[in-house]
Amino acid sequence: MKLNLFDSHVHTSHSHDGQSTMEEVCAQAVSRGVMGVAFTDHYECDIPEQRLGVRDALAELPRFRQQYQGRLRLGRGIELGQGHLYPEMAEEILGSEEFDLVLGSVHTYSPGVDIGAINFNKPEVKVSDILEKYFRDCYDMAVWGRFDVMAHLGYPERYIWGKYRIPVSFAPYEDIIQATLKLLVETGKGLEVNTSGYRQGLGKTIPILAILKRYYQLGGRIVTLGSDAHRAEDLAADFEVAMDILTGIGFEYFAFYRERQPVMLKLI
Ligand SMILES: [Zn+2]
Ligand SMILES: [Zn+2]
Repeated sequence: MKLNLFDSHVHTSHSHDGQSTMEEVCAQAVSRGVMGVAFTDHYECDIPEQRLGVRDALAELPRFRQQYQGRLRLGRGIELGQGHLYPEMAEEILGSEEFDLVLGSVHTYSPGVDIGAINFNKPEVKVSDILEKYFRDCYDMAVWGRFDVMAHLGYPERYIWGKYRIPVSFAPYEDIIQATLKLLVETGKGLEVNTSGYRQGLGKTIPILAILKRYYQLGGRIVTLGSDAHRAEDLAADFEVAMDILTGIGFEYFAFYRERQPVMLKLI
């Protein structure tokens, strides 16, 4: 049993694909011994129907902060998809709400088309095209930089291998991944360790171990833990495994975010 469990990537029913209410997530957090949760509902810049719920979630949060005061730390977060491609739309939400944590994500391959919705069995779908574009987008997002933590770097593998069982090698993209990590370190951004791959057939963290190691070697020390739960029972799922991976690399701390600043917690 690990202490200091803080889940920095959690969806509620305010996300289009979320299944549990904020109330259910809070109740689960307390019973699971989780000390804090950052609610990070989707705000997908290129998918209008996937950015409707964030403001509702933020409006609902004070009630639960009050109800769980002293027992559970609740963060005002957002999972901002493709912000670098739609900077004005991103600024609109960032400028009009106060956040504890902004997750920067790349989900789509072309406008409005989530990589998770692509049929990789189709012969015209080229895995290399999708990975190339994906890692380029992550780099561009890091240059843009209007987020705190880069979420699930390596996201397409959750589908390409996790769902379609097509083996993936990141070797051709090593340079751009390295450049992205370097930028994250230089600009003081965090890197998320997303554990959803353990529940979705991938069987490992996102990013993979080699990328986490590289971030550490480059001087990166700000890692957050995110289950990417879309239902309460997945809260903090597989955090014990992820924490052991981090300590194995050399990390001594992980972070949660308060008012967009990392707060370091000991990995114990
Ligand atoms: Zn995501
Ligand atoms: Zn998510």
